[in-house]
Amino acid sequence: MRFSALKILKEGLTGNRGWAPHWRDPAPKPEYDALIIGGGGHGLSTAYYLASQHGMSNIAVLEKGYLGGGNIGRNTTIVRANYGLPGNSEFYSHSLKLWERLEEELNYNVMHSQRGIVNLFHSDGARDAAARRGNAMINQGDDAILLDRAGVRRMLPFLDFDNARFPIYGGLYHPRGGTARHDAVAWGYARGADQRGVDLIQNCEVTGIDIENGAVTGVQTTRGPIRAKKVAMITAGRSGQVAAMAGMRLPIESHVLQAFVTEGLKPVLDTVVTFGMGHFYISQSDKGGLVFGGDIDMYASYAQRGNLPTAEHVIEAGMALMPMIGRAKLLRSWGGIMDMSPDGSPIIDRTHIDGLFLNTGWCYGGFKAVPASGHCMAHLMATGRPHEAAARFRLDRFETGQGLMDEEATGSQHNLH
Ligand SMILES: Cc1cc2nc3c(=O)[nH]c(=O)nc-3n(C[C@H](O)[C@H](O)[C@H](O)COP(=O)(O)OP(=O)(O)OC[C@H]3O[C@@H](n4cnc5c(N)ncnc54)[C@H](O)[C@@H]3O)c2cc1C
Repeated sequence: MRFSALKILKEGLTGNRGWAPHWRDPAPKPEYDALIIGGGGHGLSTAYYLASQHGMSNIAVLEKGYLGGGNIGRNTTIVRANYGLPGNSEFYSHSLKLWERLEEELNYNVMHSQRGIVNLFHSDGARDAAARRGNAMINQGDDAILLDRAGVRRMLPFLDFDNARFPIYGGLYHPRGGTARHDAVAWGYARGADQRGVDLIQNCEVTGIDIENGAVTGVQTTRGPIRAKKVAMITAGRSGQVAAMAGMRLPIESHVLQAFVTEGLKPVLDTVVTFGMGHFYISQSDKGGLVFGGDIDMYASYAQRGNLPTAEHVIEAGMALMPMIGRAKLLRSWGGIMDMSPDGSPIIDRTHIDGLFLNTGWCYGGFKAVPASGHCMAHLMATGRPHEAAARFRLDRFETGQGLMDEEATGSQHNLH
């Protein structure tokens, strides 16, 4: 079934009785060519690109809950390509290009909106850093405009420009950045993978990884054993637990990150804004809610909910930046489990076990990475070689110390990435 304006019109006039489920609900087969553990954004996009780019359709995605129930459906939906370091820079640039043709490719409305992002800065030093980052973005072929204080005021007149502690000096504007509807991204990739023959198996928790003579042979699940010569661990905040099934200890800490949304308001904020003096980022959803977030909760946890002091901390930052937010009623908050790597950059790599692959370490920024992550992971799994855009995302950099990509220059302090 293809979606089109004509189809919507027809269904609207005939009681919406012709819509089919977006994907099948197959029982697991005893054996596949490849298995993907984790039905989040990265697992689903990997499955989609394995099938669409490499002709591998005898594969299954194994999801312990329901598709899109993890971080992919919990994030604040910001999409951008504004990284400064080699490695990250080309990867997120690649991802943004994939975003820009995603809806046509998937025939699915993921509501990708290039409404722009303004990263504010509040000191001369921060302006220099923003200028350097902007130049790196332009060198990479992406877009960046350095705004002065007046330029920011023209775009965002309601910010607190007179705040004595955090005066706004200007902002780095990235017009091609923006947002997308997060769960639609999971659904679009799931539908695209299913249409190409991939089995999406929900309520199927992987409980063990079978290894013989240094090579993976399959997995144990709550729905029985499944054999495969290629297995990818793509479980974000649960990566440490899943990799432990293969005897691996990952350089990953799992932390809670909360997000918040207010009641629906009339359009007020037509771009994404990030505060430069604290961790706070905000946009307005198409339904009108102000969607915002801040720091992780600062303790390792597998709970998908956060604590009140962090909520207070985030909202204080919001009040410092745009005091009008205090008039809005907070509707909901929730949490996700973040896979925090020591340098704040991800891992897309094979492991020391033949046929076993790893994709993790997305920290605060894995939503925007979903297209490129799946694209590069599929390339690695199908060809055995890393994709050039993800060649630096190696696991062994944490052992050797070579090739670390510490974008924020914060050392291995997870909360600061
Ligand atoms: C509050 C919040 C805000 C965020 N904001 C942004 C943002 O604005 N922009 C941005 O780029 N990024 C953002 N992120 C980060 C981004 O959402 C994540 O990096 C990304 O979604 C993680 O990858 P994923 O989608 O594959 O993870 P998930 O959706 O978590 O997928 C992993 C899946 O693996 C499954 N799984 C785990 N263990 C097993 C097992 N044993 N067997 C089978 N399945 C298993 C889980 O159930 C889960 O569905 C945010 C994250 C959070 C939590």
